[in-house]
Amino acid sequence: MGLGSTRRTVLITGAAGFLGSHLADRLLAEGFEVVGLDNLMTGDLGNLRSASREPHFHLEIGDVRETLHVYAEIIFNLACPASPVHYQSDPYATLTSSVFGAIRLAEYARLRRVRIVHASTSEVYGDPLEHPQKETYWGHVNPIGERACYDEGKRAAETVLMDARRVHGADVRIMRIFNTYGPRMALNDGRVVSNFLRQAIEGEPITMYGDGSQSRSFCYQSDLIDGIFRLAIVNAIEQPIVNLGNPREMTMNELAFAVMNVAGKEVAIVRKPLPADDPRRRCPDITLANKLLGWEPKVALEQGIAATCADFRERLLPEAKPEQR
Ligand code: UDP
Repeated sequence: MGLGSTRRTVLITGAAGFLGSHLADRLLAEGFEVVGLDNLMTGDLGNLRSASREPHFHLEIGDVRETLHVYAEIIFNLACPASPVHYQSDPYATLTSSVFGAIRLAEYARLRRVRIVHASTSEVYGDPLEHPQKETYWGHVNPIGERACYDEGKRAAETVLMDARRVHGADVRIMRIFNTYGPRMALNDGRVVSNFLRQAIEGEPITMYGDGSQSRSFCYQSDLIDGIFRLAIVNAIEQPIVNLGNPREMTMNELAFAVMNVAGKEVAIVRKPLPADDPRRRCPDITLANKLLGWEPKVALEQGIAATCADFRERLLPEAKPEQR
């Protein structure tokens, strides 16, 4: 992106989160002035250690549900808890972060020229009846289940932003993010990669929910961030909703063995009940992202797990040397 003499300002909501902070690093490296907004509900200031050293990074502690006062040319809306354990612990906050957040952005876009790059999720497909999932699939979501605060919140946010596009011509791009992992995931995140890794490193039994035959497809953070960046800078976009994820699908049993292998520790596997409405299968069809953005993930699972394992070791093991994350 041509920078000219002045830097272009972007806003990242949820900047202290796992993906928000990696996105901040990438945008700073690309020469943007980056404003981060976070209410620290699940974000961690430690994630912003490298960004905070940059003179072109500014942090605001605030809430996406309130009126935005920051000026930005592009808003990356990543503000919402994303792990089932976290998003279900305060369902109202989860739903309102998505829905009121999208409404605030739509209001903002009505008054100013801004590009909105919104983080939606594969959860809009629910427990999918179509496989792999294409952007055209409408989904199979339980509207009153334990996951609904997140799934339906994200679906309603898509509705709000697509209406803003139709009615006011707002420049909206929506990425449906599939399972993503990497350094800086919260140690207590509760999602499968962070749980299995922590358990393997600490020599604890791996907690397998259900029989482990359910599948997911895991994307490494740098691949995902590259997809977000490409979606943000591409010029005109006719189809504004794009899946971003890694199409390598695997069962949770396969993941457990991959994690133990990389961590170099074999631990027991204990079975726990499968959570309600846990999707059986999930895998993105990324044909559209490939065509529109020339994007596809590059980092192999074993490589990504190794990098994440190194970061977890540093944070979990007291004797490990603290390094820049
Ligand atoms: N899971 C598991 N053990 C754990 C955490 C999760 O077996 O300690 C399973 C979970 O039931 C689901 C899959 O791993 O089938 C992915 O769960 P996660 O919470 O990471 O994300 P989801 O894709 O369900 O939002």
